[in-house]
Amino acid sequence: MEREISTLAAWLGAARRAVIFTGAGISTASGIPDFRGPQGLWRRIAPVTFAEYRASAVARRRAFALHAQLAPLWADARPNRGHRAVAALVAAGKGHLVVTQNVDRLHQAAGVPDERVVELHGNLERARCLDCGVRTPFAALLERFRQSGEVPACGACGGVMKVDAVSFGEPLPADAFARAWEASLAADLFLVLGSSLSVYPAAELPLWAARAGARLAIVNREPTPLDEIAQLVIRGDVGEVLGCALGVA
Ligand code: NAD
Ligand code: ZN
Repeated sequence: MEREISTLAAWLGAARRAVIFTGAGISTASGIPDFRGPQGLWRRIAPVTFAEYRASAVARRRAFALHAQLAPLWADARPNRGHRAVAALVAAGKGHLVVTQNVDRLHQAAGVPDERVVELHGNLERARCLDCGVRTPFAALLERFRQSGEVPACGACGGVMKVDAVSFGEPLPADAFARAWEASLAADLFLVLGSSLSVYPAAELPLWAARAGARLAIVNREPTPLDEIAQLVIRGDVGEVLGCALGVA
């Protein structure tokens, strides 16, 4: 693996417009389980889809109960070596844009400026009204749910409030996807860190970046569907691989 890590280090050193694309695998070392790895959350919990959430108060209560159960996990999570290495890359001007599928905000917690992070799937800090679009802190809604057992309605219009993290079947935030798309087409290096590359349309980005001429490098513990078109595949731990490549502890 050492040779692959040196190659990655050399490519990062030469990159001018690298896109760093991260998935749940970069945060497992922070104690947040991924969805599709061997310990994945979806092996234990059935997700509430966007259509179910919109249509049914029962589904909304189930979703809030799940959030209430998982919230301590997110609240206690701190950035790990992988996040620190990504932050070092951005600080050194080598990571042009961090495009993440994660909703945990650990890239920002590690010091990546907000304007350098595109959250393709939103985040768990905010909630938004599905009817009028108003946004509020999600933690306050969750606290009210804990006390009353009811999902609070929108204070502005009485509409349906939902955490501002994208659910199955929910459209991605269009501005975030457009920005990620543009950066991917202009990228000279597209680095995937800890993603199963099975969630669309996010997983289209590495494909288009590669077609537009970027080098594609994938660091993931398990095989991904794009391994065969990547110029570099490192089957290892994100924090260890990137930490070693960049000399970040
Ligand atoms: P995924 O769960 O589909 O895949 C994660 C991949 O990372 C797996 O292939 C797994 O083998 C690999 N992996 C796990 N730990 C690793 C490590 N330490 N080093 C290297 N590889 C490792 O995740 P995804 O591709 O991001 O898609 C999942 C969806 O779930 C996304 O939509 C995302 O929004 C959401 N999600 C986010 C979080 C979070 O914010 N931390 C956590 C779970 C799920
Ligand atoms: Zn509203």
